[in-house]
Amino acid sequence: MKAHNFSAGPCILPEEVYQQAAQAVLNFEESGLSILEISHRSTAFIQILEEARALALDLLQLDKNQYSALFLQGSASMEFMRVPYNLLQNKAGYIDTGVWSSKALAQAQFFGESVVIGSSKAVGYTAIPKIQECTKDLDYVHFTSNNTIYGTQFQNIPETDVPLVCDMSSDIYSRKFDYNKIDLIYAGVQKNIGPAGLSLVLVKDSILGKVDRSIPDMLDYRAHIKQDNLYHTANVFGIYTSLLNLRWLLKQGGVDAIEKRNKTKATLLYGQLDSLDFVDGTATVADRSMMNVTFTFKEERLAAVFDMLCREANIVNIRGHRSVGGYRASLYNALPEESVAVLVSVLEYMKNKA
Ligand code: PMP
Repeated sequence: MKAHNFSAGPCILPEEVYQQAAQAVLNFEESGLSILEISHRSTAFIQILEEARALALDLLQLDKNQYSALFLQGSASMEFMRVPYNLLQNKAGYIDTGVWSSKALAQAQFFGESVVIGSSKAVGYTAIPKIQECTKDLDYVHFTSNNTIYGTQFQNIPETDVPLVCDMSSDIYSRKFDYNKIDLIYAGVQKNIGPAGLSLVLVKDSILGKVDRSIPDMLDYRAHIKQDNLYHTANVFGIYTSLLNLRWLLKQGGVDAIEKRNKTKATLLYGQLDSLDFVDGTATVADRSMMNVTFTFKEERLAAVFDMLCREANIVNIRGHRSVGGYRASLYNALPEESVAVLVSVLEYMKNKA
């Protein structure tokens, strides 16, 4: 029986993606070759890469004449550094919403002045802060659209006067959003895109090439764009599996349709949690995330009961991040509604134990 996997990432991908990826490992499109042994310069792979790059933009309605899509090795943490290397000349502003945004800010400090322009640290990162500083003299503003650890999510795009950069690792392709207002979007792929090991970068070409420093090629977005994402050996399997997942999303009806499903799942779970007097939701209601639902039990005794019931129901990976504790149910695109229903029924059963 398939486990109900509430992992924050790497996370569940659609069953048909597993099937297709497994088949491609054995015999890629009847070629007599495994996807693991085909060249990244083969015609077959170049088609995969180009389809994946085009779909990555199309699904967010980003104009391919303005934006480039790149699948790069290094994952989101590499972009914490690659972004300021490419964009930070004098000063950048970061919205501090917890661990990931702080890590991004720390890397920017290698390249110039980077300052916090809004923070929810004082409330333990349980809310989304407002921008408190004037942004007009900044090279860019950086925000983390969904805060995987705390279960908070920007409901609107921050208003700024300068280019916007967004770490969208844990909510990309999950909802409608004004993606066009963001100049550089990046994400580790291991949640709503594909298997771990890559980052996806969607960058407006016009913001690049403005810093007066030399950038080593591997860290220069323009070097990757110039070589059509084949500056070096691509992660063939990772990109192929990401394409399968993006095709799956398109088949579901794209971001509009998946948002409806994600809303249904989140409403079901939050509705149950809100109705229970022995549970505390962690995030401020107005800022809570559709992707990561965080909560705690008022009594330790109940947490132990919950752990046991989850084991019995085959619910896995629901513990909170090690830095905050508690529980976190991640409801990424591929998590079936049925898994949420099982979790809701476990919580329902706990009414008898409370
Ligand atoms: N940003 C966010 C919002 C994340 O959730 C994570 C990891 N879960 C990261 C960045 C770091 O990603 P990676 O481990 O892929 O470098």
